Amino acid sequence: MEITRRNFLTGAAAMGGLAAFGLAGCAPKSVQADADEALAETGGETSATATEGAEVTPEPTPDATVDADVVVIGGGASGLCAAISAAQNGAKVVLFEKQAQLGGNGMMPEGLFAVNSPKQAELGIESPRKIDIIANEFQFNNFRITYDYWSNYIDGSGESIAWLLDLGVVIERVESMFGSPEVFHYGEGGHCEQMIETLIAATDTLGVDVHLNAPAIRLKQEDGAVVGAYAEGPEGVILANAKAVILTSGGFSGDTEKVRELVGYDTTYMQTPPNPANVGDGMRMAFEMGAASAPAACLTASRSVGDVRGTDLFVVSAGQPFLWLNELGHRYIWEDLGTQSMTLVVRANMAQKKAFSIFDSEEFDRLCNEGAPLKRYRTLAHTPLMNLADEIEQALETPEIEGAKLAYRADTIEELAEQMGIDAEEAVKAVERYNELCEKGIDEDFGKAAEYLIPVKTPPFYGFRETLECQTSLGGIDIDPFNRVVDAAGAVIPGLWAGGSDASKLTMESYNIEVPGSLLGYCVYSGRTMGKAAAEYAKA
Ligand SMILES: Cc1cc2nc3c(=O)[nH]c(=O)nc-3n(C[C@H](O)[C@H](O)[C@H](O)COP(=O)(O)OP(=O)(O)OC[C@H]3O[C@@H](n4cnc5c(N)ncnc54)[C@H](O)[C@@H]3O)c2cc1C
Repeated sequence: MEITRRNFLTGAAAMGGLAAFGLAGCAPKSVQADADEALAETGGETSATATEGAEVTPEPTPDATVDADVVVIGGGASGLCAAISAAQNGAKVVLFEKQAQLGGNGMMPEGLFAVNSPKQAELGIESPRKIDIIANEFQFNNFRITYDYWSNYIDGSGESIAWLLDLGVVIERVESMFGSPEVFHYGEGGHCEQMIETLIAATDTLGVDVHLNAPAIRLKQEDGAVVGAYAEGPEGVILANAKAVILTSGGFSGDTEKVRELVGYDTTYMQTPPNPANVGDGMRMAFEMGAASAPAACLTASRSVGDVRGTDLFVVSAGQPFLWLNELGHRYIWEDLGTQSMTLVVRANMAQKKAFSIFDSEEFDRLCNEGAPLKRYRTLAHTPLMNLADEIEQALETPEIEGAKLAYRADTIEELAEQMGIDAEEAVKAVERYNELCEKGIDEDFGKAAEYLIPVKTPPFYGFRETLECQTSLGGIDIDPFNRVVDAAGAVIPGLWAGGSDASKLTMESYNIEVPGSLLGYCVYSGRTMGKAAAEYAKA
C-alpha cells in the first residue's frame, strides 16, 4: 500500500486500538514526526496537524468555572484513592463523577493483593519474593509485560494497606486464593463495601470538591500540557482549571462493542459489570490529547445467558464442574478448570463456537439440598440452594435472548442437544463415554478430578449456555511506570496521569488468580501514588 500521511497515522493508531474510539487519525506529535519522516523519503506532503481528520470533541463553552490544583475524573476505587491522596498532599481537588453516587465497580470486590503489609506482619504471614510474583505474571502473560510496572506496584502494595488502615478501612483477614501465596486481603465481612464507604467519607473530611452527575467530556490542553477538564453537570458545562488531571474513569467494560473490538471476545451474550458508566471516556479524552494506546484486556468471569446475579441460578449455571459440551457435541476441556480460575474457564469456553454445561436430575436434587461443588462469587460451595427449583422454572419460561435460552430441559440428551443447537448424535456419544469414565472413577480423556466426575444419567437433563461477564477492562491508555500518560514515542504528556482500569500495563492477557486481588490492589496503589505525584507537580 502506498504510504500517505493519512494512512500511516491510521495504521499506527489502529494497531493500538484508537480506531475503536473513532480516533484513527488522532495521532500524537511524535507519530506525526515519524510519518513526516516516512513521507519525506517518499516525497509526500508533511504539513498537516497531528489530529487532522480525527473526530476530536470540540472544546465546549463553560457555564461555570472552578479552580483547582488537581482534577480527578471518576470516583470509583482508583479515583477515590487519587483524590484523597492529592488532598492529603496539600492539593485543592475537584472530582468529577458521572453517576449520582461515588464508588463505581469498587463496591464489588472481595479483597485486594498486597505483600509485606502491616496486616500480614500482624498475622505472622511471610510474603512471597517479588521476583517470584513477577515471574508468575511473566508466564501468565506470555512474557509480554514489563518488569518496572510490576516492580513499582509490588513495592508499594504493603504501604497501600498501611494507608488504607490509617484511613479506617478494615482488613478482616489475609488468605490464599486458589492455591496462591497468602496475599489476598479481604475487606470487612469478606467484601470491600466498608473500604469504599470509608474512602468516600475521607473525600468529604478532606474537602474534595465532588461533582456528581457530572461526566467529564473533554480535557483542556495548553502548549502540550493538560491544564483542566470540562464536565457536563446538572446545571451546564463546568470547566475545572487545574495544573494536573488524573484519569480514573474505569476503562471500557460497560461498552460491549469496545470489548469485542479491543479484546476480541464474541460479546453477543456478554454481561457488563454493575456500573454501566465505564464506557472508555477516559481513554477517548486521553487519545484526544495525543496519548498512545496500550493493548487492552479484560477481567472476565464465567456466566450463563441473562443477568441472574445474586440468584441460585447464577451459582449453578456457569463455571461449575459438570459435563461441558461444545457445538460439535464434544467435551473440550477438563471441567474442573474453575478450581484453578474462573477467568481461564471463560477463555476455554469462548474458544468454542458454543459451550454448554449439563447436569441431570440427581445432580439437580443435590444442588437444591446440598449446594454446588464450587464457590461462585459470594456463595460458598456446599450451601443449599433453596430458590433454585423456582428460578429454573422461571428461566425456562423466559423468552430467548439473541436466540439463546436462560435454561434448557429435556428428557433425552438428543432432545436437549437439539434444543441447544449442538450436534445431537455426537452429544449422545460424548455423554455415554463420560458416564463410562464416571463409573470407572478416572477421567482418562481430560483428567478431571474424580470428585467432579458427576454422571449425566437420570432425566430430565438441564443445560446452560456458557458465556462471560467482563468485570473490568484492563489498560488502554499508554503510561510510564509512574502512571504518567505518554505519547507514541514514550514522551510524557505534562499534567496527565491515568490509572485503575483506564491504564495499567500489568497484563496482556487477563486476570491471573495466582496473584489474587491484583486489580483492586493496583487501583489503590495507582490512585495513591498518582494523587501524591500530581499534588507535588501542581505545587512545583
Ligand atoms: C463482581 C466483581 C467482583 C470483583 N472482585 C474483585 C476482587 O475481589 N479483587 C480485585 O482486585 N478486583 C475485583 N474486581 C475488579 C474491581 O472492581 C475493579 O478493578 C475496580 O473497581 C476498578 O476500579 P476503577 O477505579 O478503575 O473503576 P471503577 O471503580 O468502576 O470507577 C470508575 C468510576 O468512573 C466513573 N466514570 C466513568 N466515566 C466517567 C466520566 N466521563 N466522568 C466522570 N466519571 C466517570 C464511573 O461512574 C465510576 O464511578 C471485581 C469486579 C466485579 C465487577
